[in-house]
Amino acid sequence: MQNLLDFDLAGLTGYFASLGEKPFRARQVARWIHQSGAADFACMTDLAKTLREKLLQQAAIVPPRMMAEQTASDGTRKWLLDVGGKNGVETVYIPETNRGTLCISTQVGCALDCSFCSTGKQGFNRNLSVAEIIGQLWWVNHVLRESGEGIRTRQTDAGCLVDTDSDHDDPAPPDRIVTNVVMMGMGEPLANYDNTITALRLMLDDNAYGLSRRRVTVSTSGLVPAMDRLAEDCPVALAVSLHAPNDQLRDQLVPINRKYPLADLMAACQRYLDHAPRDFITFEYILIDGVNDRVEHARELVRLTRDVPCKFNLIPFNPFPGSDYRRSSPESQRAFRETLAEAGLVATTRKTRGDDIDAACGQLAGRVQDKTRRTLHRIEVNR
Ligand code: SAH
Ligand code: SF4
Repeated sequence: MQNLLDFDLAGLTGYFASLGEKPFRARQVARWIHQSGAADFACMTDLAKTLREKLLQQAAIVPPRMMAEQTASDGTRKWLLDVGGKNGVETVYIPETNRGTLCISTQVGCALDCSFCSTGKQGFNRNLSVAEIIGQLWWVNHVLRESGEGIRTRQTDAGCLVDTDSDHDDPAPPDRIVTNVVMMGMGEPLANYDNTITALRLMLDDNAYGLSRRRVTVSTSGLVPAMDRLAEDCPVALAVSLHAPNDQLRDQLVPINRKYPLADLMAACQRYLDHAPRDFITFEYILIDGVNDRVEHARELVRLTRDVPCKFNLIPFNPFPGSDYRRSSPESQRAFRETLAEAGLVATTRKTRGDDIDAACGQLAGRVQDKTRRTLHRIEVNR
């Protein structure tokens, strides 16, 4: 049985060709699935009955099953997706004044083992399929549409996951429920490259979700070859998890830095900007008490990023069970931000959303049965 959620438009067109059908059928069916939220061929009344019967026998529209849902006091909602075995990954919807942002997961766990990350601490189980990645967007649109939520229920703005102030010249269509997608949930999107790209193409396609490239953000810990591929294959807004201003510290916090050190990463960011839909890279920087949050670190960061047009998203560390790190004090957070600002850099401190349901950055734990030994030499990165 072919799950049609696994196809982007090119895949769907190929599938319909194999059934002897014209490409416009693929566009019709894509609109039913992704725009109307159809999971049933019977409702696709503009398809010939014979085609609907053929599809019924050979294909299905199977989104991932949702096991649990929680709503935080600030309106943030989190779902746990059943991804087989005893595993589950999380997806988080964050309502704000003028937008609704969905934070999507791309892997069950993560092999990159960053020292401050709850997902990384659980190890890696497997990549999510295209259907499981795009199914998060499909599902959340479906649930919010059914309950009449979305833009109407959006609340006070409370800081944003990525700096999207340039949304002003890119207004969201008024009927859109999820207006922005960030690949900042569980997993490293660029380590699940092919499935991530196919899902991105569906997000951007006018026959599916029709989001603009500026409203879709991939967050990466810095897989340099895959960043170059993304620039060619599907350039969307890019956030890079920096977290340290020098190799010595970054090697400890983000172990993939040993493979792709900061000089290479900065050069890759510059190359990406030739293709990017925004004219800056967003650098994410977690502030961990006494580890990377001193004013000297901020000064070093200014020097490191001198040649890369960028904005900073400062993320106060979110604690999770088993971690010894602590969040930077409000004074250190302010001094760090001001040091960047004095050097002319735009830096916003990300407000924590949904922390009463463990939906804040880096707290997404889901359920992962570890299948890896978490050592760097076992990390396989698509080239
Ligand atoms: N693997 C990708 C995307 C998922 S992580 C990446 O690393 O960029 C999404 C963001 O959450 C990253 O910036 C990550 O560094 C951050 N994060 C991880 N653990 C965190 C924690 N405990 N507190 C705050 N942010 C965290
Ligand atoms: Fe993986 Fe990102 Fe967590 Fe690092 S921060 S372990 S890359 S999910």
